[in-house]
Amino acid sequence: MFHSTGIITKQWLLLRMTKLSTFNVRTSGQTDWIDISAEVQKAVTASGVREGICVVFVPHTTAAVTINENADSDVPRDVNLSLNLISPDRREFRHGEGNSAAHTKSSLVGPSLTLIVTEGRLLLGTWQGIWFTEFDGSRTRKVHVRVLGE
Ligand code: ZN
Repeated sequence: MFHSTGIITKQWLLLRMTKLSTFNVRTSGQTDWIDISAEVQKAVTASGVREGICVVFVPHTTAAVTINENADSDVPRDVNLSLNLISPDRREFRHGEGNSAAHTKSSLVGPSLTLIVTEGRLLLGTWQGIWFTEFDGSRTRKVHVRVLGE
């Protein structure tokens, strides 16, 4: 039988809501992968948060954000090639803008990331970088970053 010790422990998670940080990304070519790791880290540093989480959000429907290797430039090239095979242009598409393949890739890759911040730094693996992925360029795009923590 379980006997309560009568000790009540309350843990309070104190989160500081920092200012929204937004930066632009200039893409070139219909598809383009741009390493935004340094820009996102800059937003984390500016927030002053040492321990918390960082949300990266792309407010576009034909672009996205992901994490993948940033040491060998053939990796984003090859992943992009795979996405082209998964979502080619199709005659059956109805969307008048003619960019449904790009809309599909945007949904597959996704509009946001949640990252761990520790000791004021993004917790990323050795080979991981944060990539802005363009599927319907060239354009000037936006990336929003919000950091929560203490
Ligand atoms: Zn469209």
